[in-house]
Amino acid sequence: MFQAQIFTLYPKVFPGPLGEGLYGKALSNKLWNLSIVNIRDTATDKHKTVDDTPYGGGSGMIMKADVLANSLDQNKIEGERIFYLSPKGKKFDQKFANEISKEKSISLICGHFEGVDERILNTRNIEEISIGDYVLSGGETAAFVFLDSILRLLPGVLGNQNSLNDESFQNGLLEYPQFTKPQIWEKKQVPEVLLSGDHNKIKDWRLSQSEAITRVRRPDLWQKYKKD
Ligand code: SAH
Repeated sequence: MFQAQIFTLYPKVFPGPLGEGLYGKALSNKLWNLSIVNIRDTATDKHKTVDDTPYGGGSGMIMKADVLANSLDQNKIEGERIFYLSPKGKKFDQKFANEISKEKSISLICGHFEGVDERILNTRNIEEISIGDYVLSGGETAAFVFLDSILRLLPGVLGNQNSLNDESFQNGLLEYPQFTKPQIWEKKQVPEVLLSGDHNKIKDWRLSQSEAITRVRRPDLWQKYKKD
């Protein structure tokens, strides 16, 4: 079973969306497991301090390495990969989500304030992961994004596993346009080819649409697709 452990200062926000719908069902069916660790539990002073001012000056507060280290060490799982959600990290993408979905156990650290004391990262072999080039106020929303993209790849979680293969990014392209009933809506027809019943023709049309959309909207993906 895929095991996710989250280190956070705001344990109450979990499981949030991950406890609803398909993921909630998968959680009760034991297709995955979630445990939440409150970092503040390992603070040692009477105020339960988890952060302090940065050496060298500057604004904001830094999460203390000692408190975080105690939290991680007390909840260590053999063979796990530990990630710190951070705007400075390696950019998260679908390829990486596929890779992580094959792990047995992962831990995610949600930062706050100005981030964490850098020394925690090397001493605990932590991988820094960014969900995009923008700054959030805390790692919790990033953890939702990270886990959401991974959980749907776990066997048995989605009703139809085939639907994964056609999706944006899985084959290096954005998805083709989709349509459902009614056939004519506000005088707009569904593309004729989709009504033809000719599966090869539909497949070709979808691929050409995917390629056209990717070429226009994401030249970066398009260049890579053409090379591979
Ligand atoms: N001072 C830091 C930003 C801290 S933001 C810097 O300039 O790099 C506070 C916390 O939000 C971070 O510790 C991290 O856990 C989370 N966070 C912010 N942006 C993120 C992003 N793009 N991806 C993942 N986590 C992010």
